[in-house]
Amino acid sequence: MYASASVERMTHPGSPYPHLLMPLELGGVRLRNRVLMGSMHTGLEDGRDLRPLAAFFRERAQGGVGLIVTGGIAPNIAGWAKPFAGTLATQAAAKRHQVVTRTVHEAGGHIAMQILHTGRYAYHPLAVAPTRLRSPISPFTPFELSARGVERQIRAFVRCAVLAREAGYDGVEIMGSEGYFINQFISAATNHRQDAWGGDYSHRMRLPVEIVQRTREAVGPDFILIYRLSMIDLVPGGSRWDEVLTLGKAVSTAGASIINTGIGWHEARIPTIATSVPRAAFAWLTARLKRAFTEEGIRTPVVASNRINTPEVAERLLAEGAADMVSMARPLLADAQFVVKAAQGRAQDINTCIACNQACLDHVFQNRRAGCLVNPRACHETELVVRPALRSKRIAVVGAGPAGITAATWAAERGHRVHLFDRETTIGGQLNMARRIPGKEEFDEMLRYLGRRIQATGVQLQLGREVQPDDLADFDEVVVATGVRPRDPRIPGQEHAKVLSYIDVLRRDAPVGPRVAVIGAGGIGFDVAEFLSHAGPSTALDLAAWQREWGVGDPAQTAGGLRSEGPQPHTPAREVFLLQRREGKLGAGLGKTTGWIHRTALKMKRVQMIGGVNYERIEDRGVLISHGPQREDPRWIDCDHVVICAGQEPLRNLADALMAQGRPVQVIGGARQAGELDAKRAIDEAARWALSI
Ligand code: FAD
Ligand code: NAP
Ligand code: SF4
Repeated sequence: MYASASVERMTHPGSPYPHLLMPLELGGVRLRNRVLMGSMHTGLEDGRDLRPLAAFFRERAQGGVGLIVTGGIAPNIAGWAKPFAGTLATQAAAKRHQVVTRTVHEAGGHIAMQILHTGRYAYHPLAVAPTRLRSPISPFTPFELSARGVERQIRAFVRCAVLAREAGYDGVEIMGSEGYFINQFISAATNHRQDAWGGDYSHRMRLPVEIVQRTREAVGPDFILIYRLSMIDLVPGGSRWDEVLTLGKAVSTAGASIINTGIGWHEARIPTIATSVPRAAFAWLTARLKRAFTEEGIRTPVVASNRINTPEVAERLLAEGAADMVSMARPLLADAQFVVKAAQGRAQDINTCIACNQACLDHVFQNRRAGCLVNPRACHETELVVRPALRSKRIAVVGAGPAGITAATWAAERGHRVHLFDRETTIGGQLNMARRIPGKEEFDEMLRYLGRRIQATGVQLQLGREVQPDDLADFDEVVVATGVRPRDPRIPGQEHAKVLSYIDVLRRDAPVGPRVAVIGAGGIGFDVAEFLSHAGPSTALDLAAWQREWGVGDPAQTAGGLRSEGPQPHTPAREVFLLQRREGKLGAGLGKTTGWIHRTALKMKRVQMIGGVNYERIEDRGVLISHGPQREDPRWIDCDHVVICAGQEPLRNLADALMAQGRPVQVIGGARQAGELDAKRAIDEAARWALSI
């Protein structure tokens, strides 16, 4: 770990990121650089004991972050996201927060607390909103606020900010975007009021302006007040650009120190942070706001946000003048040392967020503590502590997939002498297939990082080596991380030449004809269907193409920034049928926050998804399917190829042979259990093992 002061010392004149590492005066404090750690709910905010939250932030402050923003804290019970969500409404609660602020300040950092009132997004029966309209993402219909009720909410915001100041925070962020309470007042679609808080735009925007103005009066001038402004709502009836700009100027005048960017309401059907969204996809809006501010002599700085995950992208935005600060949230879960590594010119050593949402957002939506797929220590700092081993052992790890590499590098970091073997000529195991899926290019970053870790920790890597039990005689510990093999679905006719496995398609580049049936609709079946139906370069690498595909327009032209012509996807490369035996929605087991994106993407490519099928047989013309226990409605899916994605089984021959010899062996990742396996579990399991020896 590095002390905060050292971040500035390490920023030599030849730094590759001079704009990113430039200090910024804000709200009476000097931020050491332009990195704002965006608000992220982790689950650590909700308990009474905030020490684990403090430990989480300590590492980010030590890692050099300029300004940390906490996850959303409710100003009152009505504003809770869910029952008993973190709230700051009393002095006793403010006292509890002091451990967080003290810890961050001791580590040389600065921290603001986000005030989040969820309005009709609340998942509890006490929800309130401008108008009694249920949101599509909560089962609870909110109470409509009276004028006195609105006043009570404003006072709750102000009281919360004052208490945050008493708790030692350097500022607050007023959450005005993402479709939450304040946003609900701003939009005519969710605000049908005819009193002083509804009607034309000047009335609908009154709530945020009043909140900012009264907060500023209450906290005084030397306190950071961030206003999170929705730059593009991505919902029907959302704000137009002139309204966004008017509000931006009004909150600046009312006392905001800095304006952060919010993108898309939570109910929007356009992805805004998933891995298939191009990097910095929405920074053009922040740049437009900054330009308008500059032209009008408004000096309030602005922050760019969403899918900014490398120092290169952040530096480019700042150098181009698109923003004054850059917000990164998940990238700082993935690597607490992001800023220090950038400052030291070690960007290649940054553990890059791949925007998968698997352990952060998906966990939070399942009421679980957040984590990070690529960094199991995130939000588990007090639990997963890397300490030197008591005795240095000679360890063999077989299999250089994510499980094997993590086990090897974490063990080596603790002082063990580790040899890592793989029969392939590249590291990464199945990640080499994941990276080939259009929209999953970020897996390249994961492979780069894992490769660097092998070098940095001194693990002895031997590729192209199929390990046999006798090769492992001289080791104190043997770890088998040999992964999986495809499940044999035993479908009559599966030996036919037109039958391929996902490995043939993704690793061996087997030619595939224009009509394809994919058997199995789990994560891999969906990915293979995307791979086969996608035409042309990945839209994750082409912003204009991605915007066309999803119907993202310009709020200066259409309300909410939705294109009037709607999504305009490419003509698919192939006709694809995606099949599963289970009845019901395909992809039900995909990520909680990303499954809908995969399903929508395939629908846009006209992939035909058929559930509840029996596979009768495969022949020259294709695959014969039927439905139900009575095998009704048999019909042929005529196709050139059938790709089997019917799940996986542990590859255990090495582990079984060693066990048969009575040799102690640790089996991890897919080799231990293939069901419910993903890279998140493989890495987490490996890290925990490495800390245990
Ligand atoms: P593997 O990655 O399978 O690695 C095992 C390694 O062991 C291989 O490199 C193999 O060559 C080696 N090996 C086997 N036997 C021997 C031997 N005898 N000697 C030497 N070496 C040996 N997961 C996610 O979390 N998110 C995703 O988005 C995602 N997308 C995916 C997309 C695709 C197309 C695929 C195929 C998988 C995806 N996964 C995803 C799953 C994820 O890649 C796996 O869960 C993970 O790689 C399992 O890790 P592992 O280390 O246990 O095994
Ligand atoms: P999976 O998610 O378990 O899906 C297997 C599919 O095969 C299911 O659709 C299943 O549905 C079908 N199937 C199972 N047994 C079958 C049989 N005997 N005959 C025919 N079909 C059968 O596994 P996967 O797709 O192989 O993925 C492996 C792992 O990688 C998963 O755990 C997944 O989490 C991970 N992964 C994750 C992502 C991601 O984006 N997060 C992407 C890719 C992979 P039916 O039984 O209903 O037919
Ligand atoms: Fe990023 Fe995935 Fe980690 Fe979330 S779980 S921080 S999206 S790498």
